[in-house]
Amino acid sequence: MKKISLPMQILGALVLGVIVGLICYFGDFAGLTESYLKPFGDIFVNLLKFIVVPVVLLSMIDGILSMNDMRKVGAVGVKTVLYFLCTTAIACVIGLIFANIFKGAGLFPVLDPAGAEYEAKEFSGFMSTLVSIFPTNMWESFRTANMLQVIVISLFFGGSILAAGEKAKACRDFVSSAYAVIEQLMGFIISLAPIGVFTYMAWVVATQGSEILVSLLLVIVCAYLGYIVHAVLVYSLSAKIFVNMSPLEFFKGAFAAMMFAFTSTSSAATLPVSKECAKELGAEDDIAAFVLPLGSTINMDGTAIYQCVATVFLASCANINLTITQMIIVVVTATLASIGTAGVSGAGMIMLAMVLEALGIPVAYIGLIVAVDRIFDMGRTCLNVTGDIACSVCVTKWEGKRK
Ligand code: ASP
Repeated sequence: MKKISLPMQILGALVLGVIVGLICYFGDFAGLTESYLKPFGDIFVNLLKFIVVPVVLLSMIDGILSMNDMRKVGAVGVKTVLYFLCTTAIACVIGLIFANIFKGAGLFPVLDPAGAEYEAKEFSGFMSTLVSIFPTNMWESFRTANMLQVIVISLFFGGSILAAGEKAKACRDFVSSAYAVIEQLMGFIISLAPIGVFTYMAWVVATQGSEILVSLLLVIVCAYLGYIVHAVLVYSLSAKIFVNMSPLEFFKGAFAAMMFAFTSTSSAATLPVSKECAKELGAEDDIAAFVLPLGSTINMDGTAIYQCVATVFLASCANINLTITQMIIVVVTATLASIGTAGVSGAGMIMLAMVLEALGIPVAYIGLIVAVDRIFDMGRTCLNVTGDIACSVCVTKWEGKRK
């Protein structure tokens, strides 16, 4: 019998999850999905979280060692960060355009922010954020899964192993052997993806409060339009222009990771699947090994769109009309906030507080949208991951590695 491909299994699981979720919702036993289905999704996401630190660490060091030259790592790094920054700034502009169209057409609901409650996290300034990227204790970085620090550690170790030359041969062999083991483990965990997708989807559909969903439906539609336009315009166009790949081919190749991100709402957890997809699309292994972990930590275009839409919506609830200068502040702060957003569920909403603070909008207003954050998050994570894959394919081409 022909084996069903993983993307098809994931799609089947998604559809089945929606059907079961709807049955549970209308049959009034949504609680069952929470008690008996979601835990299996949680187990699956736990497994992914458990391998994410070794995957990022070993994948980046292995990528650096395969490039065999720190100058090449630098060149790939610069191209990657430039791609990330440009696409994120475009994402902010798209988010603002859609939000303003919806607001201008009176499509946004006007909710009373008076009772909204949300406890924002304190943000440290730029310089202390910069300092905190550099670890003081490597085990602590691993224990807390601080991905930026793990990336810095990978860069240092990768560079040092290269610099040590022959003497570091044992280290090189260790990294490549340990990475081979992690790849096996990743393959096994990914094969369980349909279970995770099915259980999470059924739970989300059955439990998301319909009233709040209906009242915020147009804000959600606005964000999703932004996500879709950005994916079609920026990613498929960049794949077409730079790699001469048709949009269909691109989205088909990225499909498994997109669906997986959509249900897991974590770019970091999707990393193993993204790697498979990037490979399928022709990204060079060493480049994907470098670009994808970095992207899952700092490249969040979906998050940037969400933050822009949410900011305009919450400002309109507070009766504030944003000026052009304030919109520019939104673009800059949402770009920075999305870079600072961790690739885990719900992180983009926490960082939204930074954008609101910059504009003087009370962060407690986030309380108005917190109940439906998962719905926003599914789309934004899907877009975030697609951006990482698009970047790995483009950088491969720019490095002359793609036919
Ligand atoms: N969940 C998103 C991600 O992992 C981050 C966010 O909440 O915006 O990419």
